[in-house]
Amino acid sequence: MALYKEQSLKLYNSISGEKEIFKPINEGHIGMYVCGPTVYSNVHLGNCRTFISFDLIFRYLKHLGYKVRYVRNITDAGHLENDADSGEDRIAKKARLEQIEPMEVVQRYTVDFHNTLQKFNNLPPSIEPTATGHIVEQIETIKTILEKGFAYEVNGSVYFDVFKFNKDHNYGKLSGRTIEDMIANTRELAAQSDKKNPQDFALWKKAEPQHIMRWPSPWSDGFPGWHLECTVMSTKYLGEQFDIHGGGMDLKFPHHECEIAQGEASTGKNPVNYWLHANMLTLNGQKMAKSTGNNILPNEIFTGENDNLSKGFSPSVARFFMLQANYRSILDFSNTALLASEKGFNRLMDAYRNTAALPVSSTSTFSVSEWKQRCYDAMNDDFNSPILIATLFEAVKFIVGVKEGNEQITLEDKELLQTTLNDFIFDVLGLLDTTVTNQDNSDKLSGTVELLIKLRAEARNNKDFATSDQIRDQLMAVGIQLKDGKEGTVFTLEG
Ligand SMILES: [Zn+2]
Repeated sequence: MALYKEQSLKLYNSISGEKEIFKPINEGHIGMYVCGPTVYSNVHLGNCRTFISFDLIFRYLKHLGYKVRYVRNITDAGHLENDADSGEDRIAKKARLEQIEPMEVVQRYTVDFHNTLQKFNNLPPSIEPTATGHIVEQIETIKTILEKGFAYEVNGSVYFDVFKFNKDHNYGKLSGRTIEDMIANTRELAAQSDKKNPQDFALWKKAEPQHIMRWPSPWSDGFPGWHLECTVMSTKYLGEQFDIHGGGMDLKFPHHECEIAQGEASTGKNPVNYWLHANMLTLNGQKMAKSTGNNILPNEIFTGENDNLSKGFSPSVARFFMLQANYRSILDFSNTALLASEKGFNRLMDAYRNTAALPVSSTSTFSVSEWKQRCYDAMNDDFNSPILIATLFEAVKFIVGVKEGNEQITLEDKELLQTTLNDFIFDVLGLLDTTVTNQDNSDKLSGTVELLIKLRAEARNNKDFATSDQIRDQLMAVGIQLKDGKEGTVFTLEG
C-alpha cells in the first residue's frame, strides 16, 4: 500500500492562510509547478534556498508514493528590469553589456543554475520548459483572453484589464490586497503608459526598434509579458487545474496574482489548489545585497572565499543548515550558524554510520516504531524539516546510548532504525554523507600507496622480484603508476 494512504499530509496554503489537509485532484498523482529562475546572472543563495525548499517537498511527496510531475520553468525572455512592465529585458541588457548573444547569456546562467543545484543535491524537475520555447502557446492564450474580453490592445501591445476582471473575480485574493490599496500605492503616472490603468499588466509588449528578443504576433513584433509564461506552461503540462504551485515569497504579488487572473480569465477555472511560498534568506541579520557587500554566492560557501566566512563548508552542510529552518520562516545565514550546523551534521552522519555495528539485545529501551511515526508527523505538518531534524537527533542520542551500553535495541528495531534513518536523511532531506571528503580520500590513498611502495622496496632488497613486480603491475592495473628515481619511488595517477 502506498505510504500516502497511511499518512495525513497537511500543508499551509498561502491563499487560505491555513494549514489544509492535502488532497490531490487525481488520487496518487500530483502536479506541481514552481517558478524557476530568470537566467541573466549567477543564481544567488536566496534562490537556492527556495529551490532546496521545493526539492524537500518534491522528495517527500515522492517518498509518500505519489507520482509527481514537477514542472519548473526557465525564464529566458520577457522579464523586464521593472516588474511594472517597464525597463530593459534583463537578459537582453546583460547581452548588451557583455557584447554576447542573449542566448549565450541564457546558456551560461542555465548551466550555472543546474550545476549549483546539483551540488546541493537537488533532484531535477520532471519538465523544465522555457519561455522562448512556448511563444506560440502564449500568443494563443492572449487571443483567448482577448476573446473573453479581459484584455485590450493598444499600439501593438496587449494588456490585461484588471478592473474588468475584478468585477466578477477577486484580483488580490492571494496577496490579500484590494484594488483600492493598489491604487493608493501606485506611483506610476497613467500618462506615461498605454495602459488604461497602472494596475493593468502586459500580456504582449511591442518591441522597441533596439529590442532584439522579438517574435511576430497578430499585434506586433514583440515579446510576451513575464507573468504569462507560467500560466501557459503550467496549463500545458499540468492541466487547467493542478495541485501545487510554489515559488519565493516575493513572487506572490504581482506575479502569482497575475497568474491566477490569467488562468481564470482564459479557462474560467481557478488554476491552483494549493499555493506554497518559501521565505527569504538574510545574511548576518540583513537583506543580502551586492552593493553593500552583504552577499554570498553559493560557490563562495564551498570555497570559503568570502569575508563573511571563516572557512569553506560542504554543500550538504549548507543544505542541512537551510533545512534546520521551516521553509516559511526567514532564515539568517551566518558563519556561526554554519559552524554549528556542521557539528550537528557530522554528529548525525556519525550516528548513522555507527548504527550497523550496534550490539543487539532481547529488548529495546526506545520505541523505534513510535519515533518513526514522529518523523512522519513532522513532515506531515507542512514539511516541518526542523522538527524532523530534532526528531532524528532523538535517535542520535539513543544510538550513542546503545554504543556506550546505557541503552538496548533488538535486531528488528535496529533494522527499522537503519531504514528509517536512511529514508529521512538521504531520500527526504536529500543530504549526502560528505564527512569523508575528497581531501580525506586522497590522504588515505597516498598513505596506502606509500605503504605499498615501502613493501615493494623491501621485496626488492630481499631479491623477491616476483612480489615487487606484482605490486607494481597491480597498481598499474588500477591506474597508479610507480616511477623509480634518484629520490626514491614516486607515484602518479593515470587519467
Ligand atoms: Zn512564475
